[in-house]
Amino acid sequence: MPPAVHEGYSLFDFDTLGLTPKLNTALKRAGFKQPTPIQNKAIPLALEGHDILGLAQTGTGKTLAFGLPLVEQLLAQPGKPAPKAVKALILAPTRELTNQIAESLRPLLAGSKLRIAIVVGGQSIGKQINTLSRGTDILVATPGRLIDLMERGAVDLGQVRHLVLDEADQMLDLGFIHALRKIAPRLGTPRQTMLFSATMPKQMEELSRAYLNDPQRVQVAPPGKAADKITQSVHFLAKQEKPAKLREILSRDRAALTLVFARTKHGAEKLMKGLVADGYNAASIHGNKNQNQRDRAIKAFRDGKVNILVATDVAARGIDVPGVAYVVNYELPDVPDNYVHRIGRTARAGREGEAIAFCAPEEADLLRQIQKLMKIDIPAASGTSPLGKGGDARKGRTAASRRPTRNTGSRSNTKAPARKRRLKWKRAAAANVAQGVAAHQ
Ligand code: ADP
Ligand code: MG
Repeated sequence: MPPAVHEGYSLFDFDTLGLTPKLNTALKRAGFKQPTPIQNKAIPLALEGHDILGLAQTGTGKTLAFGLPLVEQLLAQPGKPAPKAVKALILAPTRELTNQIAESLRPLLAGSKLRIAIVVGGQSIGKQINTLSRGTDILVATPGRLIDLMERGAVDLGQVRHLVLDEADQMLDLGFIHALRKIAPRLGTPRQTMLFSATMPKQMEELSRAYLNDPQRVQVAPPGKAADKITQSVHFLAKQEKPAKLREILSRDRAALTLVFARTKHGAEKLMKGLVADGYNAASIHGNKNQNQRDRAIKAFRDGKVNILVATDVAARGIDVPGVAYVVNYELPDVPDNYVHRIGRTARAGREGEAIAFCAPEEADLLRQIQKLMKIDIPAASGTSPLGKGGDARKGRTAASRRPTRNTGSRSNTKAPARKRRLKWKRAAAANVAQGVAAHQ
C-alpha cells in the first residue's frame, strides 16, 4: 500500500481518522497498519455524517471505507435494535459479496454487542426470519431476498439510518433499480447514504442524485481505471483457438490462482469440465449452481484447494481472494465496465497481477468499448488486432511475443449484435434511473 501523503504527513495511521481506540485495536489485530487512500478520504467525512459517493479502483479497501464509519457510528448509538428492526443496511449485488462484506466487518464488532446479519437468496428463509426477529444492527443483503422478507413482514426498515450500496453502479442493472425503488421508500429518515464503486457510468450520477443528499464525492483515481499493478494483454485469435490458448496459459504456472471468466453459465460449466477432463484443478461458479456449491467453490479457491475458478460475472464484483495471480477473460464481457471489475479480482491490496483477454473477431467491438472506457490500448500478446486507428493494440509491452502477420481471419469487424445489446442496456438503464429519480422526488 503506498503511504498516503496529506498536509505534510508522510505516513498515516488509523488513529488520525477519528475512530475509537477499540476499533483501532481491532484493526491492528487484523494486521491493518495504515488506511488506504480511499479510507483516508472517506472515513472522516462519513464520520461527520455526510452522504458519500466513493470511487476507487478495485482492491483498494472500499469495504472498510464504509464499514469503519458505519461501525463507529453504531457503537456511539445507544440502545439495542427493536425486534425486526435494522439500524444500518448494506446492499450488494451478489450473495458471495454479501458474505464477504459481513466477514470483513465481523472482526470490528468483536467485544461489542452489535449484531450483524446476512440476508441472501438460495438459503433457508425461515432461519433468516428468525434472525431478523431479534433485531439487527447491520444487515448485509442482496436486494431480492430483502424484498421477499419485507413483503412477509419479517423486517422493519423504518429505523435504518445508514444505507450503503456497494458496487453501486450495478444497481443500474434492471433488476436492482426496481428493487431499490421498492426498498428506499421503506427506509428511515434522516439517513446517511453511501454509494461505493470502482466504475462510474454516466447514469450513476443520476442514481446518486436520486438517493444522495448533498454528497461528498470521494475519488482517488479516475473511475474505470484498473488497479495500477495489473499487467494487461490481449490475444487476438479465432474462437476455436481459445481452448488451446487457455491450456497454454494455464500450463505456464500450474499452481497459480487463476480466475477464468466466461460469458454464459453454460459456457462456464463446459469450460470447467473440459479443463478437469484434461487434468487441471478447476471448479466453477455461476448462476446455475446452488448456494452451497457456490460457497464451496469460492472456499476451495480461497484455500488454494483448486487453483482455477471458471466464473461468469457473478464473481466479477467485489470478490476478494487475495492471491489471484491471473484473470483470463476467455470471453469479453458485454458491458465494458465489467472488464474493469473482472480484472480487478487480481492485484488486490497492493499486489501485482496479470489480466489476459481473448478477443475473437466477433468480439472486436467489445474490445473497442473496453479500451475506450479505460482510455488505453491493451497490448497485444499474440495475433493481430482487427481494430483500426486509435484502437490499435499492437504496440505494447508484450509485443515481443506477438505474431504480427498471423491472420485471424478478421477484418474490421464491428459486429452489430454486441453494440445493439449494449445500446439497449444503456437505454434501459437510463430509463430506469429516470424512473427511479421520478419515484424519489
Ligand atoms: P475493494 O472493495 O476496494 O475492491 P476490499 O475492500 O475488498 O477492496 O479490500 C481489498 C483487500 O485489501 C482486502 O483483502 C482487505 O482485507 C485489504 N485491505 C483493506 N484495507 C486495508 C488496509 N488499510 N491495509 C491493508 N490491507 C487492506
Ligand atoms: Mg468492494
